[in-house]
Amino acid sequence: MLGFVFISETLPMMLVDCHMHTPLCGHAVGLPIEYARAAAERGIKLITVTCHVPMEWGPFGQAGIRMQMDELPGYFDLVRQTAAEASQFGVEVRVGIEAEVFPDEARLERMDAILSSEPFDFVIGSLHHQCQSYQLWLEENGVEDDEAIIDTYFKHLTAGVRSGRYDTIGHPDVIRIYGTVAQFDPARHEDRIKAYLKATVEADCCMEVNTSGLSKGVYIVHPDPLILDWAQALGVRLTIGSDSHRPESVGQHFDTVLPMLRTKGFHEVHYFRERQRFSAKIPVPEGQATESTA
Ligand SMILES: [Zn+2]
Ligand SMILES: [Zn+2]
Repeated sequence: MLGFVFISETLPMMLVDCHMHTPLCGHAVGLPIEYARAAAERGIKLITVTCHVPMEWGPFGQAGIRMQMDELPGYFDLVRQTAAEASQFGVEVRVGIEAEVFPDEARLERMDAILSSEPFDFVIGSLHHQCQSYQLWLEENGVEDDEAIIDTYFKHLTAGVRSGRYDTIGHPDVIRIYGTVAQFDPARHEDRIKAYLKATVEADCCMEVNTSGLSKGVYIVHPDPLILDWAQALGVRLTIGSDSHRPESVGQHFDTVLPMLRTKGFHEVHYFRERQRFSAKIPVPEGQATESTA
């Protein structure tokens, strides 16, 4: 059980984890019911399964990255079965998808058809810059140096937010991971990143706090704490996800990240049912139960 005190407030106060995968992606292990049991052990009341969306074969769709189109019905069956079973031990399981943000809209037609026809609870938009599809786009469009690549990445997130496709943007500064650009200080890209954050508020989208960053690469939360400060000042709403690819990662680092969010002035996180947004107060860390929760 994570160490939080649940005191009564107007909004429900509960832990949610809205980003995790299944073996259908080809690079995750463990059945969703195992993720749900791990959630129950950690006091997490709602999880959203968010496998990678099927995309056309080619640079987007290498084996081991995402499920294929004909696996989608099985995905829904799997999550629904899990939801029925997990409800018996008090964990709500929702079905989401991790969709792609990509600059070439024509390449997203098939994905758009899936997003508009399938009954997802929650749609994450992620720009997987490390994938061949994006690296090829950068090459074809002559974007070569790191500064330009980083600015272009956040420009594409801004366009993604404005597209209205997504409920949140996943791991918004994942460009820092995987070594495609050298490490950078977000302050050097403040204008571009703030433009993305402002667009998020204007479009009524959310931004994900992805706790997996603390386990990989730069060992820091996604997005960077400085970006979180800017987001708080601008009124950006947050979702939170562990990006688990194995059951034991469910809720990973929440005991570090949730208190940090409260310290920064965030008092709630958001989750979705049938694409409708709900809010949950961030539980007060043990030892801080007397703090003002206004
Ligand atoms: Zn994945
Ligand atoms: Zn991702």
